[in-house]
Amino acid sequence: MLQIQQNISLKNFNSFGIEASARYFAEISHEDELAELFLDPQWASIDRLVIGGGSNMLLLKDYDGLVIRMNIRGIEHRLSHDEVHVEAGAGEVWNDLVNYCVLHGYAGMENLSLIPGSVGASPIQNIGAYGVELKDVFDSCRAFEIATGMFKTFSAEECRFGYRDSVFKTELKGQYIIVSVKFRLSLTPNLNLQYGAIGQELANRGITQPTIADVSKVVSHIRVSKLPDPSTIGNAGSFFKNPVIGVDQFAGIQKQFPDVVNYPAGDGLVKLAAGWLIEQCGWKGKTVGNTGTWKNQALVLVNHGGATGSEIYALSSQIIDSVYTKFGVLLEREVNMIG
Ligand SMILES: Cc1cc2nc3c(=O)[nH]c(=O)nc-3n(C[C@H](O)[C@H](O)[C@H](O)COP(=O)(O)OP(=O)(O)OC[C@H]3O[C@@H](n4cnc5c(N)ncnc54)[C@H](O)[C@@H]3O)c2cc1C
Repeated sequence: MLQIQQNISLKNFNSFGIEASARYFAEISHEDELAELFLDPQWASIDRLVIGGGSNMLLLKDYDGLVIRMNIRGIEHRLSHDEVHVEAGAGEVWNDLVNYCVLHGYAGMENLSLIPGSVGASPIQNIGAYGVELKDVFDSCRAFEIATGMFKTFSAEECRFGYRDSVFKTELKGQYIIVSVKFRLSLTPNLNLQYGAIGQELANRGITQPTIADVSKVVSHIRVSKLPDPSTIGNAGSFFKNPVIGVDQFAGIQKQFPDVVNYPAGDGLVKLAAGWLIEQCGWKGKTVGNTGTWKNQALVLVNHGGATGSEIYALSSQIIDSVYTKFGVLLEREVNMIG
């Protein structure tokens, strides 16, 4: 029988380490429990928040509704010729799945090593790092529709993945709970070593013919050296998305700031590095009360201890204002605001 707890602290359930509580809290270990939960009109009508690892959310206040923590476990794989299909429960830790695949020689996820959070949340913002996005290895996901109590399988096309975006953040926001995700991986690695310092770090280690395990190790090493560990300094990784602007606006910015960091982003579009823009406004490593930006990466907002969600939100608003004033570019928050 599904247990619903009351007045539960969420401090250990969000990577910012914000002290906030949930009025009601349910942990889901099997998909049948979702059907059971939503059969009861009390839970079907109340505000609800689905969480995995809580590593992409900022709790602005206590949550006066039902928090549903996804803890469905299990990893299965099926080989077919050179391809392998791996299916994992929403509550599996993302990096455990990556390690499982790397250990078995299933290639495709190695650049996504050490991203915090759960498998179930990975399609929500189409997680990405080091030149690879979830959509590159995604096959489908199974999700529970809250309104009907039915399960539906979403193809990659139906998920409408974009840069840190999917249908679950837009049209279908709050309507489905992902219970498992299926991935399509390969037994023949097609390594992606172009992005960031991967190539350089492999060279430093004298590795000329890297395996997926080498790439996973190197990516993990680079991430640890750049990003704060949420278990010691609360954070949610990149707080803002990298803004994508038109070439005309970009030309104006480049004229004034010739070393502006940029990447081509398709037809007539340019992606700017949000971290660089924020750094140019003098925010890198700055402390404001209990919050601040990370010393090695201005894109990461941190909780130095005891910060509230609204303090971190206020800092993010100041950063948005100063970047807009200096560059005329409006930063968008990547982290989900709750409350
Ligand atoms: C140090 C650090 C580094 C990071 N680096 C990266 C990075 O390189 N690339 C990247 O893309 N992200 C990165 N992130 C962000 C984060 O790791 C990802 O967004 C991750 O997918 C969040 O998983 P989670 O389980 O913690 O999600 P949560 O924070 O629990 O939830 C995030 C959102 O998804 C919803 N959700 C969660 N689970 C489900 C489900 N089963 N069904 C439906 N909705 C659900 C929640 O309601 C919420 O809206 C980083 C975060 C940290 C702390």
